[in-house]
Amino acid sequence: MLAINNLHAQIEDGVEILKGINLQINPGEVHAIMGPNGAGKSTLSSVIAGKEDYEVTEGEILFRGENIVEDAPEERAHKGVFMSFQYPVEIPGVSVTNFIKAALNETRKANGLEDMPAKEMLALIRENSEKLGIKRDFLSRSLNEGFSGGEKKRNEIFQMMMLNPKLAILDETDSGLDIDALRIVADGVNSFRNENNAVLLITHYQRLLDYIQPDFVHVLAGGKIIKTGDKNLALELEERGYDWLLN
Ligand code: ADP
Ligand code: MG
Ligand code: MG
Repeated sequence: MLAINNLHAQIEDGVEILKGINLQINPGEVHAIMGPNGAGKSTLSSVIAGKEDYEVTEGEILFRGENIVEDAPEERAHKGVFMSFQYPVEIPGVSVTNFIKAALNETRKANGLEDMPAKEMLALIRENSEKLGIKRDFLSRSLNEGFSGGEKKRNEIFQMMMLNPKLAILDETDSGLDIDALRIVADGVNSFRNENNAVLLITHYQRLLDYIQPDFVHVLAGGKIIKTGDKNLALELEERGYDWLLN
């Protein structure tokens, strides 16, 4: 699904943030990335999604066998890479539903498919919104306008489930997930994950991994993956912090 080889990336003023990342994700796997603040976790997710603030100076990102380093963010999205907060914009007058319909049909078009028939779309919206406990009035609200943290999170996970990407990258930033948001993310990921897709979950919260069983846990520090383990590594980090891994 994803093979990142010796990836180096810098911000525009030449400061290197990612210093040789190697990461392999197979279909059906959930990988968690943890690490101290400023380690480069968000940078890694942005670089995979193709955010233009960063320049890849070395290495490759193979997505389903194809190097996507030169692809624009939209092209990567069309190929099946989803990143949370890819669409954080407030769009007054455009509802949650209309936005996701447009995004889904745009992706289909980019892949040579016709628009999804309205009936099918409606059924899909219903199925996914029910899974997430989303109410009808939420679906008709203007996108992101006045959304609470939990509502933003719910919308983000809804977008993921509707677009049904091959690879979902969820960066649970430091902004603080309350217990409700934690549950939304966990339930969403658990219902999304299957043997044909993969999830890269960036998190500070060991607790999230009580709800989402990762296959691998990686520690990112100083722009490199310094340790990889299974879910027990997350528990160990919870107990011991990161210092024992840094020298
Ligand atoms: P994490 O998500 O692990 O907390 P980040 O990827 O956000 O870490 O940041 C890693 C380092 O890169 C930090 O020192 C941060 O200040 C710096 N950095 C990341 N993105 C930018 C940017 N666009 N401009 C300037 N510095 C950045
Ligand atoms: Mg941070
Ligand atoms: Mg971050």
